Amino acid sequence: KDFRNSVKPNWCPGCGDFSVQAAIQRAAASIGLEPEGLAVVSGIGCSGRISGYINSYGFHGIHGRSLPIAQGVKMANKDLTVIASGGDGDGFAIGMGHTIHAIRRNINITYIVMDNQIYGLTKGQTSPRSATGFKTKSTPEGSIEQAISPMEMALTAGATFVAQSFSTDLKDLTALIEQGIQHEGFSLINVFSPCVTYNKINTYDWFKENLTKLKDVEGYDSSNREQAMQTLMKHDGLVTGLIYQDTQRKSYQDLLSGYSDKPLSEADLKLDQAYFDKLVEEFM
Ligand code: SF4
Repeated sequence: KDFRNSVKPNWCPGCGDFSVQAAIQRAAASIGLEPEGLAVVSGIGCSGRISGYINSYGFHGIHGRSLPIAQGVKMANKDLTVIASGGDGDGFAIGMGHTIHAIRRNINITYIVMDNQIYGLTKGQTSPRSATGFKTKSTPEGSIEQAISPMEMALTAGATFVAQSFSTDLKDLTALIEQGIQHEGFSLINVFSPCVTYNKINTYDWFKENLTKLKDVEGYDSSNREQAMQTLMKHDGLVTGLIYQDTQRKSYQDLLSGYSDKPLSEADLKLDQAYFDKLVEEFM
């Protein structure tokens, strides 16, 4: 199936988000999804435009809120494959509360973060992923804050699928997205996706010099949470590949009694006007 549509992305030439878009399209085709079986929900930011560039259901939501919407979509129709997406500012600043709770809930969706360590859409301000000392218009003397570590945060919050990739590693990124979609539970995939216009520090060359592929780390076992945490700390979070996967823990959908038979969207819930009137009366 072809997950390309006729909308031309208006990202800057060279933006890392192009590869993420291609990887999602390839992964969806490779695992045999149908366009009408996929919903892509996004937040606000340059990366938030991605939901309009894929031939599937798309929902371009509000800042930091792609996850509540994506979870609602999945709850309403469990037969849809749901991908939430956005930038590091969207997911790890304003949306961080939703990120942590979606992780611990282990709801069966895939969250892809395009991490460029800056706010690109608003023309270059320091983000929660910017390194200490990072100079932008919002921190002209250099950031005095410490960057958040999303992979360590995810492990601590009880994530069952944690992966990281680099937008130029299209083959590896595609494979990770396939794995994430097929994982029974919440999958978080953080993608280093350079902003070529505003971030002149974390460039493609910088990532090539600083990233370590987990498949090159001898004896790395992605089912070992303790080793995952130690490896992340040793490499300052700059690793790519499948960091951790727990295939034993049940997803939110699996644990929800009475939910698994058919999608809520097809259930006869008998929600008529009298039902809503009664609800309103109770809360008044
Ligand atoms: Fe990509 Fe940066 Fe351009 Fe936004 S400003 S489209 S993140 S390169």
